[in-house]
Amino acid sequence: MAPGPLSGPVVFWCFFSKQRIMFRCGRGRCFANNYKDFSGTLGNVEYLKNLIPNVLQLIEKQSPPERSSCDGGLYVGGAGIGYAFYAVAESSAQFLVANTREDCLRKALEYMKVSLQDVSKISPQEDGIGASFLLGHAGLYAVSALVFNALDHQQEADYCIQKFLEMGNICRPINFFPPGSDELFVGRAGYLCGSLILNKKLGRTVISSEVTRPLFDAIIVSGQQYSQRRRSKSPLMYSYYRTEYLGAGHGLSSILQMLLNFPEHIANRSDVEALIHQSVDFVLSCEMPNGNYPPVPGEFRPQEDELLHWCHGSPGVVYLLAKAYLTWKDNKYLQAAKRCAELTWQRGLLRKGPGICHGVAGSGYVFLLLYRLTKEDQYLYRAQKFCDFMQTDEFQKGARTPDSPYSLYEGLAGTVCFYADLLNPSTAAFPFFDVFS
Ligand SMILES: [Zn+2]
Repeated sequence: MAPGPLSGPVVFWCFFSKQRIMFRCGRGRCFANNYKDFSGTLGNVEYLKNLIPNVLQLIEKQSPPERSSCDGGLYVGGAGIGYAFYAVAESSAQFLVANTREDCLRKALEYMKVSLQDVSKISPQEDGIGASFLLGHAGLYAVSALVFNALDHQQEADYCIQKFLEMGNICRPINFFPPGSDELFVGRAGYLCGSLILNKKLGRTVISSEVTRPLFDAIIVSGQQYSQRRRSKSPLMYSYYRTEYLGAGHGLSSILQMLLNFPEHIANRSDVEALIHQSVDFVLSCEMPNGNYPPVPGEFRPQEDELLHWCHGSPGVVYLLAKAYLTWKDNKYLQAAKRCAELTWQRGLLRKGPGICHGVAGSGYVFLLLYRLTKEDQYLYRAQKFCDFMQTDEFQKGARTPDSPYSLYEGLAGTVCFYADLLNPSTAAFPFFDVFS
């Protein structure tokens, strides 16, 4: 669908300056999608086998493992690049030469070590940063544990797990970070996300139910209290810097998604399950006629200003819908997820770059999710076409360069995770957002 002219400025929350910023986009938010839809023949992305090592080389050259690349944690810092090298190593068996897995893991370790040295200088209590998964200490320790473990450095892996556990104590108090104690980037939902990743990737329970249960319960109580105070239509509601975000970035959908990953904390508590279920249905009720979700419930924007990103919009809410479908087997969630994918196919060739947070790879991951959910080839085809588009002159000359062009969430480190997942679509998952485990 061709982008139309913009009718007004767009307001975003800036993670780092902690204020709202405004900008105007001159040419619309997306490129026209001129690809024919699936007609029975899949595309060919074998070229990724050569492209992936080249992209990794470029990332390393332009954003080497140095002190200056540390700021921003997993989101836009060196730790996120380290994660990308780890992710490629873990998925490489089928397409890279034998010693490349070790090379990638050693490179991942370099990035993690620099960030680990850096983080030791910042108090984990400061702004609750210690409990923060995507922006702070907890995420760094979690991914470092994975990398050390993959290299059989067990002592160092155990040290990082221990540090991760210590960080969990920071986010136990219900209001430990007043601007937003529960969301994904810095709050308890992020800590739960890290716990899930550690247990899954290490193949054993290193973060026990005794650790996660008080945090799970705090999210429930916090959400109920806030909802009652604000008379929200959702029985669980949260805010981040006084804004009630809906999407995956800082919002309700990713918090609920993390809660649904802990069936052991929901079992035999019908009241808790009902709260979560009704809140998921509230998110679903916010769906707009075109299948998108507003950044904030009830917020209306003209189509040209609509955000269709992982962070704000259906490409992020779709993970909650998929998780809800897998949990309750109610077809309405699957149908809503398919509507997200349909809109993403029409308008997901984003001009904001190749990243996973608000770029084309983030859109492409929607199709990989639907492919795993439905086993329908049309979704794999669509992911392949979005990958192809990132190789075109139209994209490479016409897309904007993100602020952090080599990072995990804004830049090529996330894109390379998408490439690796395209070669292994049966296990593909947006980083840290695997709803199937
Ligand atoms: Zn974003």
